[in-house]
Amino acid sequence: MRIAVLNLAFVVSGWLSWSAAVSAAELVLAAEGKSNYQIVLPDPTLDPIIDRALGKAADVMREMFLANGGTIPVVRESQADKQQPGIYLGDTAVARAAGVEASQLPVWAYVWKTAGPSVILAGRDWPATKQQDSGDRSCCLGTVKAMTDFLREFCGTRFLAPGGLVGIEFLPTPKIVIPAGLSRRKHPLVNYNSGGRPTTEVNEIGLNLLNNVTTEYFAHTHELAVPAEKYAEQHPEYFALFHGQRIRQHPHPWKPEVMVKEPHLCYSNKDVQELIYQDILRSLDAGYSDYLSLQADGFQPCTCDDCKRLFDTADWGEKLWLLNKHWAERLLKDRPGKFLVVSAYTVTGKPPTAFQDFPPNLRVSVGSYQQAFDLWKDGAIPGGFVTYLHAWGGYHLCGYLPVRTPQYAERTVRMYGQYHVKGVGLDSPPAIMWGLEGPTVYVYARMLDDVQNLTAQQLVEEYLQAAYGPAAAPMTRMFDELHHTLAAYAEVFGVDNGILPAKHGARRASVPRLSNASRQEHAGRVAGRDGISREDHHGLVRHQQAALPAGNLDAGTDRPSTITISPGSISPGSGLDI
Ligand SMILES: [Zn+2]
Repeated sequence: MRIAVLNLAFVVSGWLSWSAAVSAAELVLAAEGKSNYQIVLPDPTLDPIIDRALGKAADVMREMFLANGGTIPVVRESQADKQQPGIYLGDTAVARAAGVEASQLPVWAYVWKTAGPSVILAGRDWPATKQQDSGDRSCCLGTVKAMTDFLREFCGTRFLAPGGLVGIEFLPTPKIVIPAGLSRRKHPLVNYNSGGRPTTEVNEIGLNLLNNVTTEYFAHTHELAVPAEKYAEQHPEYFALFHGQRIRQHPHPWKPEVMVKEPHLCYSNKDVQELIYQDILRSLDAGYSDYLSLQADGFQPCTCDDCKRLFDTADWGEKLWLLNKHWAERLLKDRPGKFLVVSAYTVTGKPPTAFQDFPPNLRVSVGSYQQAFDLWKDGAIPGGFVTYLHAWGGYHLCGYLPVRTPQYAERTVRMYGQYHVKGVGLDSPPAIMWGLEGPTVYVYARMLDDVQNLTAQQLVEEYLQAAYGPAAAPMTRMFDELHHTLAAYAEVFGVDNGILPAKHGARRASVPRLSNASRQEHAGRVAGRDGISREDHHGLVRHQQAALPAGNLDAGTDRPSTITISPGSISPGSGLDI
């Protein structure tokens, strides 16, 4: 039946070749600059921010057809030509009639499905509950993700960088063909991959910069649940007893003459425990799925007798882990399907010894580097992890220059796959320099699409071919040089947040492109010292960058030399050898 409908549609359209029309196995969306398809948007009953985002997505798809020589209308569903096939974006009546309930899909998941000659691309599109202080709200735009992946897979489109059409490359695709029985439901590797600033830009979503709509706060939430300003006067017993005082103040770090009350809590106090639990429920009932549980920064333990006795342990990490476990177990009954995320941070930085099997609704938030994850490899954590990535940021020793390599990006996302990471907070947006870090960010972004099968090597090639076309070969050599030069920083010194770890120990590391003379000079500079200071290391990095040969782009056959950096910055067995 479907084949008959297809043939009728193509015969009526009259311009497609007969060979395409009779093929039952494929649908031809466009050929030789002609298409009888229309892009169909849902009627505007959604939030205006969603309508705008879907409209922009449709515009990008129309540009793709234009780039291949054809024009295609964009219409609302109520205005669609029912006699012609359509590419239906989002929660349309056609999608629902085909059994695609976009509004029921999980965050950032999407469906591709053919319905006769028409194509449905749909995900759940909704804005997060909380209004941001400024700018747009965070939205999940599963339909935009469905469309960007579709354009990449079938239409030769490459999303290379933010910035509208400037950041998109439409590779020539004279014939756009999809399987007639296309049916795919895809769940993202992570529920968010976000630097905090909400985005609805098509390119960024194509690059898997996915807004967080699952967690209300990435903050020290315990002090938000029990604010000192609200409770200090009436309930001083809520706050940590320290040197005989419950209510203590310190000067605000930058506001003169403003005093700030210490936020540290008396965790054995039942009211404190209940206030935190009620804040968990409040946030989850507002529409979020995850709640981050995090004690105050610079944790100061309460010294009251009840706190000392709490859970019969003197270890505050154990006390807080056990409290979190109790909250999670209670939450499992009260709000099944929701998650408590406990940050492995300062006093809770190590796994608890009191239990190894975590409740299924408890996730752990750890730093985005191998040692941080490996601390947890022996426990059963069915809820998985979330993480916070310091890969990019102006505080790195490289400053605003490129920081990372494609290999670093590949390894990082592989780690996410291995540890079932469910969300990534980006401390800084990836790549301050989108030109020079383009290949690396592309690897990071695209690895999230298929962590099992994609590799840095193939993705760098995909990027360079799309971005530079006939200049791809010399640009490949240029980027090879750059990545060799960055390797030591990107993969050894700059792990975690770019601050040189305090550990010492001789390690070998590849440092490329140093002449014999500079190598000897280099070895002389580092020999005999018992540590590399931040300034020293900055010099090392500048030294390497100076070694990038501006006029030596065709010297690609040289291999990186290897020197011994002593002392190194990582402990043996860290897995960070390069
Ligand atoms: Zn106490």
